[in-house]
Amino acid sequence: MMENHCCEQAARRVETIRKNIDKTAVEAQRDPAEVRLMAVTKTRTAEEVNEVIAAGIDLLGENRAQELCARYEQYDLDRCEIHFIGRLQTNKVRQIIDKVTMIESVDSERLAQEISRQCRKHGIEMDILLEVNIGEEESKGGFPQNELEEAARRIAQLPGLHIKGLMAIPPIEDEEEKARAYFAATKRIFIDIKHKNIDNVSMEILSMGMSGDYSQAILEGSTQVRIGTALFGPRNYPAAQL
Ligand SMILES: *Cc1c(COP(=O)(O)O)cnc(C)c1O
Repeated sequence: MMENHCCEQAARRVETIRKNIDKTAVEAQRDPAEVRLMAVTKTRTAEEVNEVIAAGIDLLGENRAQELCARYEQYDLDRCEIHFIGRLQTNKVRQIIDKVTMIESVDSERLAQEISRQCRKHGIEMDILLEVNIGEEESKGGFPQNELEEAARRIAQLPGLHIKGLMAIPPIEDEEEKARAYFAATKRIFIDIKHKNIDNVSMEILSMGMSGDYSQAILEGSTQVRIGTALFGPRNYPAAQL
């Protein structure tokens, strides 16, 4: 009974968000199929995550290596893949490398080098996104805008890695206009780099937009929104856990 109730709620939330995404894409004169919905799982139980997978989610976003490893075996991953989206310490790369199909939060060359090294060790290749620190915030990871192209050129040469696009987490803004300006700026960088035609760099994925601002992100060209709260409800966790 209880379980049923939860599944229905998960299904309803997935449906509502998907409808909002589609409506916004159409409003922006874009194909709704261009925008992928990721479920961000931090602090959720494997059970909660499996409910949204049952409701049609085919992409999970993981923030913490430890959390991913603890729940990985319990996930129903037959039709679902995992991207890593959190700050990643180089010494944690080996724990996640065989569990994810993309690392979206590549924010330094040192991290890229370690991912490349682990790929060779495991005989695999890895798709990555470069994280842009679009608000130039001290507290956030990501390449500053003016270092991104150089970094892309160097990282693209590392064996086993394929740069597929950009990820951004803009500063939290009260005004929609300001939030949109950051998304628009990220899209411009995405287009700029695309036009450079760098070997082994294809700008296909623009990962931006979360529960509070995904509509603005889609209006400015996001191809993948990362949603936690709007899918699962408010998070409960000790602040130190993040
Ligand atoms: C937590 C998180 C999200 C989702 O945030 P919500 O506001 O709960 O939707 C998206 N991206 C990253 C990188 C996150 O850490």
